[in-house]
Amino acid sequence: MKGRAVYIKTFGCQMNEHDSERMLGILGTKGFIEVDEPKKADIVIFNTCAIRHKAEQKFFSSLGRVKHLKKKNPQLKIIVAGCSAQLQGEKLLNKLPYIDYIIGPDNLHVIENIIENQVSHRIFTDENPEVANINLPVKRKDCVKAWVNIIYGCNNYCTYCVVPYTRGKERSRCVDDIIKEISLLGEQGYKEVTLLGQNVNSYKDGNTNFPLLLEKVEKIEGIKRIRFITSHPKDLSKELVDVMKDYKKICEHIHLPLQAGSNKILKLMNRKYTYEEYFEKICWLREAIPDIAITSDIIVGFPQEQDEDFEKTINALKEIRFDGIFAFKFSPRLGTAAAKLDGHISEEVKTARLIEVLKLQDEITERKNKRLEGKIQEVLVEGKDEEGFTTGRTRTNKVVKIYSDIKAGEIVNVKIAKTHRHSLEGDIIST
Ligand code: SAM
Ligand code: SF4
Repeated sequence: MKGRAVYIKTFGCQMNEHDSERMLGILGTKGFIEVDEPKKADIVIFNTCAIRHKAEQKFFSSLGRVKHLKKKNPQLKIIVAGCSAQLQGEKLLNKLPYIDYIIGPDNLHVIENIIENQVSHRIFTDENPEVANINLPVKRKDCVKAWVNIIYGCNNYCTYCVVPYTRGKERSRCVDDIIKEISLLGEQGYKEVTLLGQNVNSYKDGNTNFPLLLEKVEKIEGIKRIRFITSHPKDLSKELVDVMKDYKKICEHIHLPLQAGSNKILKLMNRKYTYEEYFEKICWLREAIPDIAITSDIIVGFPQEQDEDFEKTINALKEIRFDGIFAFKFSPRLGTAAAKLDGHISEEVKTARLIEVLKLQDEITERKNKRLEGKIQEVLVEGKDEEGFTTGRTRTNKVVKIYSDIKAGEIVNVKIAKTHRHSLEGDIIST
């Protein structure tokens, strides 16, 4: 039988990227190979993101571009997976009947039945209480670093966010399965793992909480670096900070989304911390791990964000001096509490605020990076960039271009010669 081909397009966060790796894993066991163009494929999968309107729009325009392929190849199956699939379900099928199947994030395993023609319906969006216990095969993009799910869903209901509706209730994966997966990665030569979840800090399996899980991962042979994403500030404990300080494989980087500097806005967002509490945790981290890089997410133009509230976000950025941020204009999402609030902010003001935030942060990031000139950084080599330069990342998650030719997977010391806003460059001093 001729090998069958799959084209997959992924939108959104690392969770989605990893879900795509898991869908490719299932298809790989059935003999599918991945292709780089939808026209070469027997199955086209869109793994969608619903977090902001813009992400959804991108998916719709990509989907529109494959519609004609069905005319040429009526056997072609179009699958829409991910968060928009979960949210829109039947509506999506009614609107765009050329879609064959809709699969929510809890139901990726049904792909196997779909390709075997063993399904009697087209929409798979039921909540799956077993999702954390299903260990799917994974076809990883990278051979140096790997994502590993530790917790699914989210119970936090930040008022702007669709994730609790798209990815369901929080469910922790069993610790033995996590350790088994990472041990295998260590044996296969992977050097770095990133533990994934919407709120890794609330991981709990029996007596194992997140800091205890990290201690177990630290002991796994072969793995040299441990990262995790994302941490919710309200659940970041002193115990976690101590573990981060004491265990050498845990990288000196944390992504800790602040969202806003104004307590009024944080309350409206249901973030469950004040700016002062957040700042105190930044102090814990910097006291324990002086070289730690801290990155964050910021939303501008949340409903009722007055100029003085926005000013507090600006002041927070100046006070904390993050290493980098992702900043977004508030995007009202159907069904969320924030979409129903009074006092929505005009697009014009949102854009102006976003520009201001990004400009300020760019200056801060540039200055912080500048301080690394002449310093030696440990870099895990990841591969080559488009220009053929060796690239890797520091423990603080900064991208480094290395002048020498080094194999992916090597850990080297690099003397930083030049710094830029989003990267560093330099050469190896010893192996
Ligand atoms: N679970 C993570 C947390 O709580 O920090 C983040 C999850 S979300 C995929 C990533 C980021 O998207 C959030 O931190 C937030 O800044 C942003 N985001 C989520 N919903 C949004 C919305 N409706 N409009 C604008 N940005 C949004
Ligand atoms: Fe969304 Fe808040 Fe959950 Fe993060 S913690 S996924 S922002 S609801």
